Amino acid sequence: MKRLAILGSTGSIGTQALEVVAAHPDLFEVEVLTAHRNSALLIEQAKKFKPNAVVVTDESKYKEVKDALLMLPIKVFSGNQSLNEVVQWEAIDTVLGAILGFAGLHSILAAIDAGKRIALANKETLVVAGELVMQRAKEKGVDVIPVDSEHSAIFQCLVGENPASVEKMILTASGGPFLGRKPNYLVNVKASHALQHPNWSMGNKITIDSSTLMNKGLEMIEAKWLFGLKNEQIEVVIHPQSIIHSMVQFNDGSVKAQMSLPDMKLPIQYAIAFPHRVANTYKRLDFKDFPKLTFEAPDYKTFRNLAIAKDALVKGGNAPCVMNAANEMVVNAFLQNKVGFLEMSDMIEKTMEQVAFIDHPTLQDYQESDLEARGYATEFIKKSQLSIY
Ligand code: NDP
Ligand code: MG
Repeated sequence: MKRLAILGSTGSIGTQALEVVAAHPDLFEVEVLTAHRNSALLIEQAKKFKPNAVVVTDESKYKEVKDALLMLPIKVFSGNQSLNEVVQWEAIDTVLGAILGFAGLHSILAAIDAGKRIALANKETLVVAGELVMQRAKEKGVDVIPVDSEHSAIFQCLVGENPASVEKMILTASGGPFLGRKPNYLVNVKASHALQHPNWSMGNKITIDSSTLMNKGLEMIEAKWLFGLKNEQIEVVIHPQSIIHSMVQFNDGSVKAQMSLPDMKLPIQYAIAFPHRVANTYKRLDFKDFPKLTFEAPDYKTFRNLAIAKDALVKGGNAPCVMNAANEMVVNAFLQNKVGFLEMSDMIEKTMEQVAFIDHPTLQDYQESDLEARGYATEFIKKSQLSIY
């Protein structure tokens, strides 16, 4: 029986994690659930899964959640400080990090400090501070098991292998809804269009990141830190069917791939059940439904975010942190139709030019770089042609 804290239980990953838990009540027990603003869903989840505690980080929602759960033996907390304390509780074995963006960093560090196993969906945590997070996990003897489907695929391919025999890792990307499109088309696309992902159903932010290929850029950086890679060992290939979730090439030329239908419940289940593979009844892959699995090189010129992220990966230091902060801001603005699709890359680049480079940042430096980048990005967003400010 694994006792879980699910951080971000009201999100796309969080709700799917609860489906996995519900399907295996003999294996998983929910100790803690956390949400930010979606109090109604948090209350519903708490009544169903009966955790020991819930945290609603947006303090204005505290009373509503507290009142709704008054008659149940469930502790209710609010705010970020509570989140960082609750993840350290003795009863928790595994913390599933499914909070969105930079906001998920501190609770993951707190959980690592308390020696909790981490099942990590929140890729921004590793993009911003991967070196620090993985170093701290190493010091504490904590396993960080990826939930992101590409990294889960790689993790599964590495089972039983000597890490020194890895030549390179190949991250697959669907290419998103705008695969094959050129800037003259992209200049006019709106959020409603970008949110139509061909293969995956995900939260809004990551769906936009998939349409700009920033998601794959973030995943290159995530892979570097998770698997201790050199920059040149990370490759991206477009694979529109999303059947191969990623691959590892070894020093004898052999390539291992992990395949399945695209369903996040599988990598979530693998991460929270690790090292066990658990039987389930999800729909199986039938190769006859996919007579053609195709591969092509990404278009770095059109999808500039991928090139920007690759540069940030090579540059290191606080560059990925600054890029991530600017990206979070411009994606949020794009979702509200306040900036154009192609403008997002311009604004990320301009923000990165503004914030001073720090070679070996501390946690405090990451925090300050994040804030500074958000300030610059906000200024650029205000100057957008679409802006209503
Ligand atoms: P969602 O937007 O669907 O959910 C985000 C969750 O985080 C919600 O529970 C939300 O709470 C909570 N949250 C948002 N902001 C804050 C904050 N400031 N403080 C505390 N909690 C907050 O995102 P996804 O589930 O899509 O993604 C979560 C993470 O997993 C991301 O890092 C993403 O990149 C990664 N990931 C997601 C995949 C997917 O298929 N969705 C695939 C691979 C990785 P509330 O709703 O209550 O406001
Ligand atoms: Mg992914």
